[in-house]
Amino acid sequence: MRATQLHIVTYRNDPADAEITSHRLMARAGYIHKISAGLYVYGPLLWRTLGKIKAIVREELSRVGGQEVQLPIMQDQALWERSGRWEVYQASRTMLTTTDRRATTFGLAPTAEEVVTDYADATVKSYKQLPLSLYQIHTKFRDEIRPRFGLMRVKEFIMKDAYSFDIDEAGLDASYEAYRKAYVRIFQRCGLEAFGVDADPGDIGGSGSMEFMVAADAGEDAILIEEGGDYAANVEKASSRIEPSPSQGEAPRPMRRESTPNIRTVAQLEGFFPEISADRMVKTVLCRAVHIDREVPWAVLIRGDQDVNEVKLRNHTGGLSIEMLTDADIVKLTGAQPGFAGPVDLPEAFSVVADESVRGMANVLCGANETDVHLLDVNLGRDCPMPEFADVRTARVGEAGPRTGAPLVERRGIEVGHIFKLGTKYSAAMGASFAGPNGKPTPFVMGCYGIGVSRVAAAAVEQQSDDRGIVWPIPIAPFEVVVAPLKVQDDAQRGAAEGLYTELAAAGVDVLLDDRKMGAGAKMKDCELMGFSIMVVVGRGLAASGTVEVRNRTTGDEKVELPLADVVTSVVEMVHAGRRGLLPKG
Ligand code: ATP
Ligand code: MG
Repeated sequence: MRATQLHIVTYRNDPADAEITSHRLMARAGYIHKISAGLYVYGPLLWRTLGKIKAIVREELSRVGGQEVQLPIMQDQALWERSGRWEVYQASRTMLTTTDRRATTFGLAPTAEEVVTDYADATVKSYKQLPLSLYQIHTKFRDEIRPRFGLMRVKEFIMKDAYSFDIDEAGLDASYEAYRKAYVRIFQRCGLEAFGVDADPGDIGGSGSMEFMVAADAGEDAILIEEGGDYAANVEKASSRIEPSPSQGEAPRPMRRESTPNIRTVAQLEGFFPEISADRMVKTVLCRAVHIDREVPWAVLIRGDQDVNEVKLRNHTGGLSIEMLTDADIVKLTGAQPGFAGPVDLPEAFSVVADESVRGMANVLCGANETDVHLLDVNLGRDCPMPEFADVRTARVGEAGPRTGAPLVERRGIEVGHIFKLGTKYSAAMGASFAGPNGKPTPFVMGCYGIGVSRVAAAAVEQQSDDRGIVWPIPIAPFEVVVAPLKVQDDAQRGAAEGLYTELAAAGVDVLLDDRKMGAGAKMKDCELMGFSIMVVVGRGLAASGTVEVRNRTTGDEKVELPLADVVTSVVEMVHAGRRGLLPKG
């Protein structure tokens, strides 16, 4: 293609709302144009890159038996009510909705489990038609609380969503594993360094899930990794081992009351009782789990030096979300000011869970549910009922990892994909079944698999750029090579560039000829900003020594002057090496 026929739009300045590199560079290089918060025009360059990502996705999914389909974006309320998710998405306000002329309400697909499950139910009669694996690459809508970071978090984006239908759990395990491997290859082929981490399934649900993360400082997710080990988990899900409380195994002492005027926090208690360390205290965190039809107050007991993990807690309560109680609610429900709650004589309205960190603690210090009073030497099970235990604690950097015990380190990541074992969550709720080998109706055992196709492009920019602009990995670059004559008015330069362009195109290279009439400096700046990684620059060297400069920005901006006759062979080699992305050699 010729640059004079390409809608090139470049800017010198960053958009005012750009906080991260990919947003800055993609806006300045004309890949995206903001229409309103979280809504962008995708320019021609971005569309080429997305086309390449989609092609890689299609190839890898068809290798594992995925069949491409298209599901409607408008999905009626009644369908979503059958899975019970209409209210879930209404409560979180994630789903955008619309109505037709008959006043039927539709959700705009944030994801498509309901539609695809309904389709499988209607069209799969027998186990002989299984396994079945369907995918689409289509627009998704989510009314994000805070759209930001350019294409990373938008209201409208392109997702590849796939769904597997199996006869049984063993079948699901095989499908899930095939998708996991396909994802590893997809990201490698895109030239992205991505890794899988244990994840929380969120609103999609199911029994197991793994996120694919691209390591980047601008990532919104925190990931904890066992140093040198193979454990990696989103902090929402991560667990760790901590030293037991020094109180473990102590002989129980009689419970005592102590006046603690205005002493509310763990830090204040440590000052007030210098001999009692935080790991001998039990904090009582008061909150409510918000369900579709009710709110349940919860008291969460956790060791004084630890913190509650809201996602783990939400999963434990089965609620849609967790909200902290307001000071007024605390006074109303416990009869005491905030800072004095505790497990002894806690009003019955509260459901109680104790974090595993509390198990086995003896003679603990905790609130008395009375303003300005704490209790010492409390023993759970003796002074109050023994609570139910669960892991609702936030794992922290430096703690021992759950697998090898090696210390946890933190990395930031961008979530580019997420795979889930759904099991029969949707098929059971929606009554979607097939006739099993014994003739009995059997619910589909399902998995679902997402890739944020548009986010992948942004993540690639986040991972690879230099101070001049984007440096696309070759497999997803809008053009693999740019041939740029610095002075198009110069017949020799223009002629040489035209020749290289024609030969490279004939060799199957996706090449752009920058035939724009403009200053050499400005042309170079544009090409660097737009992210052309392999640049063939036809300049003064041609007349002086018959040479052309070849730059490869993916390998630390290597520059070589080559005789004109050697350029095509050398560039074709470079392109072929780059096309493999990060696939292992061989
Ligand atoms: P996040 O935690 O970032 O909000 P999610 O867990 O809600 O994402 P999934 O439901 O797993 O996302 O969706 C599959 C993929 O779609 C994600 O892995 C991500 O790459 C992409 N994605 C999700 N939300 C957005 C968004 N608002 N803008 C762009 N891409 C998104
Ligand atoms: Mg996710």
